[in-house]
Amino acid sequence: MQKARRPLLAANWKMYKSVADSLNYAEELVRRADEWVDLPADLLICPTALALWAVGQKLASYPVRVGAQNLDLGTEGAMTGALSARLIRAAGAQYVILGHSERRQHFGETDRLVAEKTRQALDEGLMPIVCVGENDQENQQGLTTRVIQRQLAPVLEKLSPVDAASFVVAYEPIWAIGTGKVPTYEDAQRVAQDIRQGILRQWGEEAASAVRVLYGGSVSPDNIGGFAAQPDIDGALIGGASLKVDNMVRMVQQW
Ligand code: PGA
Repeated sequence: MQKARRPLLAANWKMYKSVADSLNYAEELVRRADEWVDLPADLLICPTALALWAVGQKLASYPVRVGAQNLDLGTEGAMTGALSARLIRAAGAQYVILGHSERRQHFGETDRLVAEKTRQALDEGLMPIVCVGENDQENQQGLTTRVIQRQLAPVLEKLSPVDAASFVVAYEPIWAIGTGKVPTYEDAQRVAQDIRQGILRQWGEEAASAVRVLYGGSVSPDNIGGFAAQPDIDGALIGGASLKVDNMVRMVQQW
């Protein structure tokens, strides 16, 4: 399948960086704009929700998007502590990371909840980046494809082919997140291709070729080039290495 999709390099800052540190980062990125601004990839920063608006404002005149790391169901109302897709969108986000394995593990998010959040994100004009991936044991047992199909099935059920261009899947093997371990490029490509084939079976070729599939898990300036070379991998979701501007610049330069 042709790689006509625009690459997306997404920084997932997790629970790092104060508002002040987030703004310093954005300022440094702007100072170094001539090193990345004309490159043919979309850059996305997902800071904490606290810093989302401010970072988005700082980068407003640059080709960088901002996104949230999660959303809560609902629009507005008596929901103490919750952040809805609508409020996130109104704070300047264009994307939202959903179903990250840390949310599944520490906050008990189920495949079904992730599916509902994905639907809500799209309804409110946010592009969801839905994370899927197997753990170490599942990997050893050769269950990767089955696990990912299970995670994606309820999501695809709630979506339709018209959502394809706004829908991003991130393949993040849990054993690769924050560990320095990565799958071989060929294995990552195979899983990305599997994901696309699964979408193709449900939505047909045109929609399947519009969906962007990212790889995430210990991506760094040293290994990103290998992922970029894979036909079904359209970008990366980057945690630890994205926390430094220099890394981010070096990574986007290699895509
Ligand atoms: P990592 O995190 O790059 O630090 O492995 C990736 C992620 O969790 O999205």
